[in-house]
Amino acid sequence: TTTFYHEFNTPGYKGKVSFPTGVFINGKFSAGGDRTTIDVINPTNGKVITKVAEGTPADVDRAVKAAKRAFHESWGLSVPGAERGKLLARLADLMDEHFNELAALEALDNGKTYSWARAADLPLSVGTIRYYAGWADKIHGQVIETSEDKLAYTRHEPFGVVGQIIPWNFPLTMMSMKLGPALATGNAIVLKPSEFTPLTALRMCSLINEAGFPPGTVNVVVGYGHTVGVAISEHMLIDKVSFTGSTLVGRKIMEAAAKSNLKNVTLELGGKSPNIIFNDAELESAVKWASHGIFYNHGQACSAGSRIFVQSGIYDSFLKAFTEKALSLKLGDPFDTDSYQGPQVSQAQYDRIMDYIDSGKKQGAKVHVGGERHGNEGYWIQPTIFTETKPEMRIVQEEIFGPVGVVIKFEDEADVLRQANDTLYGLAAAVFTNDITRGIQFAHKLEAGTVWVNCVNHMHPNVPFGGYKQSGVGRELGEYALNNYTNVKAVHVNLGHTI
Ligand code: NAD
Repeated sequence: TTTFYHEFNTPGYKGKVSFPTGVFINGKFSAGGDRTTIDVINPTNGKVITKVAEGTPADVDRAVKAAKRAFHESWGLSVPGAERGKLLARLADLMDEHFNELAALEALDNGKTYSWARAADLPLSVGTIRYYAGWADKIHGQVIETSEDKLAYTRHEPFGVVGQIIPWNFPLTMMSMKLGPALATGNAIVLKPSEFTPLTALRMCSLINEAGFPPGTVNVVVGYGHTVGVAISEHMLIDKVSFTGSTLVGRKIMEAAAKSNLKNVTLELGGKSPNIIFNDAELESAVKWASHGIFYNHGQACSAGSRIFVQSGIYDSFLKAFTEKALSLKLGDPFDTDSYQGPQVSQAQYDRIMDYIDSGKKQGAKVHVGGERHGNEGYWIQPTIFTETKPEMRIVQEEIFGPVGVVIKFEDEADVLRQANDTLYGLAAAVFTNDITRGIQFAHKLEAGTVWVNCVNHMHPNVPFGGYKQSGVGRELGEYALNNYTNVKAVHVNLGHTI
């Protein structure tokens, strides 16, 4: 196995961090099946932070068998919900105890700022685990009235072994959103973090042991999508797969599920979310939120408000203030307390985003702000705003997943509704207006799984999140996510009826 060691000496966090890495199966770390490693890269400078064990399909198989054993022998419905809840609550407490360390690891690995990791990623992650701790003993079916000679009821049973595949943009939060409801309902887990950001997931493995979960309840296999990810989505003993990532890969997951054992599938996919600002919106607040909508987490948010529609009456004043806001955002070391934006996560993402910026320029849109690399090393991109776009342009239609927004002028409600819904995606949308009736009516007309009125990118453990259209299948968070992880069994008991 390998050991991660790092000494943080930053204005926000100082301390030595050391923990085992490896594939985490049955409560133990070991080298991957091929004894190979994956380089973990620091996105601020492109240098290697550490190496972690690379998992293989054979490791997935071992992990599934360990999970199956745990499910039957020491987990699942044989452990009362209250006990499962206690373990989840203990895990949340441990995350709180290691709050700053987890935030620092996330900032180091992903490039997001330490202050945002503390303000957003960690509270949502811990909050989600704690929220599902509370659900664990409140999961039950129904008694259904039929006739007096029959007792019919349902049980909400765990699937057994669930596979979970997550992306790199909110590594710990995505992990928490997967673990919480799956463990509360009694499933055993094989989880694959993104090969780009494995550190917090590996740190969590030790905390999971410390919390006292039976070995094999949670198994974590770091590896590539085309090896470990495929092995999970095709595995015949995995009854459910929950995936968060791109629509392209989500489609492959569903295909693999169909071609293997028809495993149940939940998908949280991409977006191209509209952010609609009406003439009567409070300008200063709309500018602040629009900036947060597209530039938060360096634009690497599935719900990013990447299409900003502004009504003609305030278009000029909005654009002026929005430009000033974009230019004021400080790009800098993720550990500097005044940095707003760090680097993009990887060279691949950097290239992808710069390619989109090029395509916008070539297709005739105007770079209003930014559009260039920032600095000489690492994967930094200036906050970028395009204007004078056309609906068919790639930068208007496709998810860029970077700090690149388009600002589009609209005239009236019908015009903006048509444009806002003119997308394959349907993850989120936002509406800014001082007319609450219009805000609510518009929220109901938008084809999106989440609509924010007078705010953007605001999530809460108790409130479901997920996509319409090609942004996904199913919902995470809230009570709704419990349905992702339970099978409904109907039981008919004969109280006297005859054939
Ligand atoms: P990605 O789809 O490339 O990868 C996601 C995960 O899938 C990674 O762990 C990757 O290794 C794995 N993977 C890749 N190919 C695979 C395959 N063939 N089979 C199985 N697994 C495979 O996405 P990404 O670049 O990591 O993340 C960015 C995307 O995630 C964006 O599209 C974003 O919108 C989406 N996202 C969605 C949500 C949401 O809740 N809807 C949240 C965060 C990110």
